[in-house]
Amino acid sequence: MKEKILCAKWILTSVEVEPLKDRCLVVQGDKIVELGSKQELLSKYPQAEVFFFENGLIFPGLVNAHTHAPMSILRGIAEDLPLMTWLNKVIFPLEAKLQREWVYWGTKLSLIEMIKSGITLFCDMYLFEPEVIKATEESGLKALVGEGLFDFPSPGYGPLEKGLELTEELLRNFENHAKIKIAVSPHTLYTCSAETIKKCLKLAEKFGAKIHLHLSENKEEVREIKKKYGKTPPYVLKDLGALSENLIAVHCVRLNKREIELLSRYKVKIVHCPESNLKLGSGIAPVPEMLKKGLMVGLGTDGPASNNDLDLFSEMRTACLVQKGIEENPSILTAKEVFKMATEIGAHSLGFKDTGKLLPGYKADLAVLDLNHVNLYPDYNPLALLVYSAKSGCVSDVMIDGEFIMRNYKILTMDEEQIKEKIQNIKKEILKILQKTFYISEKKNKLFS
Ligand SMILES: [Zn+2]
Repeated sequence: MKEKILCAKWILTSVEVEPLKDRCLVVQGDKIVELGSKQELLSKYPQAEVFFFENGLIFPGLVNAHTHAPMSILRGIAEDLPLMTWLNKVIFPLEAKLQREWVYWGTKLSLIEMIKSGITLFCDMYLFEPEVIKATEESGLKALVGEGLFDFPSPGYGPLEKGLELTEELLRNFENHAKIKIAVSPHTLYTCSAETIKKCLKLAEKFGAKIHLHLSENKEEVREIKKKYGKTPPYVLKDLGALSENLIAVHCVRLNKREIELLSRYKVKIVHCPESNLKLGSGIAPVPEMLKKGLMVGLGTDGPASNNDLDLFSEMRTACLVQKGIEENPSILTAKEVFKMATEIGAHSLGFKDTGKLLPGYKADLAVLDLNHVNLYPDYNPLALLVYSAKSGCVSDVMIDGEFIMRNYKILTMDEEQIKEKIQNIKKEILKILQKTFYISEKKNKLFS
């Protein structure tokens, strides 16, 4: 097997280790086997293919631990609305008319955006997930995916029972897949009854699968659940037997200290999506308190219709800055902590334990930050550049399982121009639906005008 040697000005192997200067790493098959000096490695592997990144920073591929990738087709469609209005008046009615093909192309658009942001692994929950899987397999990215399950009928699978059947079929088909894993994904407690959650738990248990849901996203949700069950969402899940290390709970904005301790006791995995929470006016999750209590917190963008991008660099920066602001403490939630959330913690939470670091034995899932960009000069501190200065579009190369999927800014696995053209056609179809279905001003062509 011919090795690949990647040499760079900087290599950040993990946040626990100082970045390496003028070093190389060796990739054999899909794994990293060795790190060292150029001279030493070139003489040890004379047949290897060598790649030089003279002004590059190699870092572990980022992990977007929660998104709804196909929602890129709805980016910008409804803005500046509260979560429940946004969902009930715009997103859910539109999704009722969603078409399989839109999901495929919307996912492709998002995959391109994620690759350009150095993301190599993501977690998705949406409708028509087999289309998400198909697009993801073509792109070369890794993912944990699950069909979003609701009590009400879905345009993807029809009645709930069919959704559970589809999830079971996916769990069976992808049991030993190298890049795709399947989660059981009840949307949230306000769209799934206790009975539905129990059915999901049974299914997840049968396959040892992860459960992925939204939890305590805003005040209104907590109020609604409390009214229905007489207790807050984490305690409802506790009584249903849903709290475990296999549970991935997204948002957790409205948690008090007792609830944080409860989730920590059961080793529940949390995903923090600060930009979506800010945009929907949901609040700011108590991340420093969660970390203090030993919770594993990953980082996600949430869907591109409530963010409105899939740039995990900006998500890292926002995650740090909001906590420093509200706590009036610049030393809280450091670059090191947040980078760990966006790499190894996210990967571990999604069940991909051999990615997220660039050390021997780990999968060669990595990206190269091109330090020639003016916003990345000078390079005193590579970690600070990644968290506070980098932007989507500053990544030149991405490798997954030892294969380049982007090389020198060109995506090798997908046709970007074809995808853009398809998206413009989908936009026209969606606009036609909007004009028929919604309270829309023909003149202004704008929702809720
Ligand atoms: Zn979400």
